[in-house]
Amino acid sequence: MRSEQKPLSTQDSAGHDPVALSRAEYERLAHDAACWRRYWQPDVVTLRQEGEAWRELRRFREISSAISAAIDWSAVAAAPSHAELARRRAEPVTPRRCGARDCRMVLSVPWPAPGHDVFCPRHETNRAVAA
Ligand SMILES: [Zn+2]
Repeated sequence: MRSEQKPLSTQDSAGHDPVALSRAEYERLAHDAACWRRYWQPDVVTLRQEGEAWRELRRFREISSAISAAIDWSAVAAAPSHAELARRRAEPVTPRRCGARDCRMVLSVPWPAPGHDVFCPRHETNRAVAA
C-alpha cells in the first residue's frame, strides 16, 4: 500500500466506504465510466448496429464475388436457354441411323439438321469410318 492512500474500511456517517485514489487513477476511472455510459447511449448503439450490418454486407459481397469468380460464365452463357430447349423439344424427333459405315444404331436426336449425319456414342469420336 502506498503511503499517500488512506487505509480501507473507513465508513463515514452515511454508510459509504471512502477509498483514497491517486488523481491519475481517479481520472482513468472517471474516463472509463464516461466511455461506458457513451457506449450504451441509444445513438451509439444504433451506430454500432449499423456498423455491424455494414460489415455483414461487405462480407456477403466478398463471398458473392468469390462465388462469381469461381464460375465459368462462358460455359453458362453457351448453355441453351429454357426457351431454346422448349423450342427443340417442340420439334418432332425422327429416328436417325448412325452415320458410321456398318453401324445399325438408330438414334432419336432432333439435332443436327436432317441433312447432317448423326453418330452414336461409339462412333462420336471416330467419324473416319463414316460412310
Ligand atoms: Zn455408330
